[in-house]
Order: sequence, then C-alpha cells, then structure tokens
Amino acid sequence: MPIYEFRCEICGKVFEALQKMGEDFPSCPQCGAKEVMKLPSIFAFRDRSAYRSERERAILKRARDYLIDGKVKDARRFLEKAKEFYPTDKIKKLSDTLAERKPIKGGYISKPEVVITKKKG
Ligand SMILES: [Zn+2]
Repeated sequence: MPIYEFRCEICGKVFEALQKMGEDFPSCPQCGAKEVMKLPSIFAFRDRSAYRSERERAILKRARDYLIDGKVKDARRFLEKAKEFYPTDKIKKLSDTLAERKPIKGGYISKPEVVITKKKG
C-alpha cells in the first residue's frame, strides 16, 4: 500500500497514512477532523506566508463547498473548529456570518463577501 501525505484543513497537521485505492481519507490524528486534503508527493511552499494564505483558501473553499451543497450546519461546524486553530479575519467573518443566520434549505449566504455561485453540470 502506498503511503500518502495528508494535511488537516482544520488544525493544519500534516501526517502520513497508508491508503488503498478508493478508500476514504483518514481522519486527522490531532483533532479528529475528516476534512483532510491529500497532498501531492512533491509539495512544498517556499515561504510561510504562501502556506498560510493557501491554507486559508483551502478552509474557505471547503466551507463554500458545504454551502453550495446546502450543508449550512456542516459549514458552520467546520468553521467553528477551523476558527480555533486558524483564526484569520476571513474565517472568523464567515463563521460569524453563518452563526447569525438560520439555515435556509438550499439557501445561500448572500453577504457580498460570501457570494456563492452554483456550478452547472
Ligand atoms: Zn486536525
């Protein structure tokens, strides 16, 4: 079985795990989150700020994916946790925005900074 490197999108832990083809990604060994990302084998950021902004983007993207799927509760839970480990302004703002609003079935969060467009196809 090949060993892959994963990174937790919530707490940022990078870890290795054995994985079979088609198997679900492992949970994070540090915080238990299922939101982990498989890293390409050659994966390096030249500097820490690039890493940080990439990570923030990954977190925001994951939250938006939940919202696009209508999973507002999941998005909120994910952001609550992400905020603990990685409290950037954007993440906090999105988390607060969601916390204030009641979930609407199939609804979007329509604040200007969180415009979500459903992809077709
Ligand atoms: Zn984690």
